[in-house]
Amino acid sequence: MPEVDRAAASRAAVAARRARAVVKDAVRSGERSALEVAEQAWGAPDGPEAGMRVAELLGTLRGLGPRRVDAALEMLGISPVKRLGGLGHRQRTRLRAWLRAREAGAGRGRLVVLAGPTAVGKGTVSGYIRQHHPDVLLSISATTRAPRPGEQNGVHYYFVDDAGFDALIERGELLEWAVVHNASRYGTPKPPVEAALAAGRSVLLEIDLAGARQVRAAMPDAVLVFLLPPSWEELVRRLLGRGTESPEEQARRLETARVELAAQDEFDELVVNDDVRRAAQEVVDLLIVPSGGARPPGRAGSAR
Ligand code: 5GP
Repeated sequence: MPEVDRAAASRAAVAARRARAVVKDAVRSGERSALEVAEQAWGAPDGPEAGMRVAELLGTLRGLGPRRVDAALEMLGISPVKRLGGLGHRQRTRLRAWLRAREAGAGRGRLVVLAGPTAVGKGTVSGYIRQHHPDVLLSISATTRAPRPGEQNGVHYYFVDDAGFDALIERGELLEWAVVHNASRYGTPKPPVEAALAAGRSVLLEIDLAGARQVRAAMPDAVLVFLLPPSWEELVRRLLGRGTESPEEQARRLETARVELAAQDEFDELVVNDDVRRAAQEVVDLLIVPSGGARPPGRAGSAR
C-alpha cells in the first residue's frame, strides 16, 4: 500500500474507533440504550454501531464485568470477536431478546404473543411448547365457540355462552378479546397472565391479529411473534387439509389468512413454521428472561 493510502487508512481507523468510543460513552451514561444501539447497527451497516464488537457493547452495561460478558456471549452463541453488524439472524434475535429482557427488568416474566394466519400451525407450535416447556404459562382463552370433539373445558378453552363472555368483559377480566372469523368471540383472561408475570413466569398467548394489536397497546413490553408458513401454497394446503369446517367457513378463513399475512410487518419477530421443533425453539428463545435464573437458549452451541 502506498504511504499516502496507509496514512488515510490509519486516519479512518482512528476516526472509526473514536466514533465507537462515543457510542460506548452514550450507552454507559444511559443516554442511549444498548438495544437501540444494536437496532441501529442492524439498520445502518456502515455506521459506527455496526462496527462495534458485541463484547464491547455488553461491557458497557452496568453489572457486566468481563467474566459475565463472556458468559453472556457463550449463552447467546456469539463469538467474542463478532461485531454487531456481522451477526446472523438468530444471533440478532437472541441478542435482541436478551437486551430487551435486561431493560425490562430482570426477574420479571416475559409476555410473548404468537399470532399468524389461520392454519399456519400456531396450535401445533404452542402445543409443542406446552409439552416441552412446562415453565411457560400457556394462557387458556375464553371462547363462545362450541367445543370440537376431544376439546375439554379448562384445558383447551374456557367454553362460555354469550352472557358469560359479556360478564367477563364487564368485569374487566379480559386482557384482550376479538371476534374471530366473523363467528365467535375469543378472549384472554387477565388475572392468570398478571399473576404469572408477577411471579417471574413467562406467558405465551396464541391469539388472532386483532388481539395481538390490543396486547401491544395494553402491554408495550410484550414481544409480538408472527408465525409464517413456508409458502402460500403450503398454507392453503394446511388450511383446506384440516377438513373440519364447511366450504363457506374455509373460504372465510382463506380470506382472513390473506389479510392476516399482510400484517406481518407490524410484528417484532417472524418465525417460519417449516419445522415445528425449530419454530417452537425460536419462540422459546424469545420467552427466556436472562439474569439470575437464566436458562441458555437451546441452540446456543449451533449459532451461525
Ligand atoms: P380455533 O377456533 O380454531 O380454536 O381458533 C380460531 C382462532 O382464534 C385462532 O386463530 C386463535 O389464534 C384465535 N384465538 C384463540 N384464542 C384467542 C384469544 O384469546 N383472543 C384472540 N383475540 N384470539 C384467539
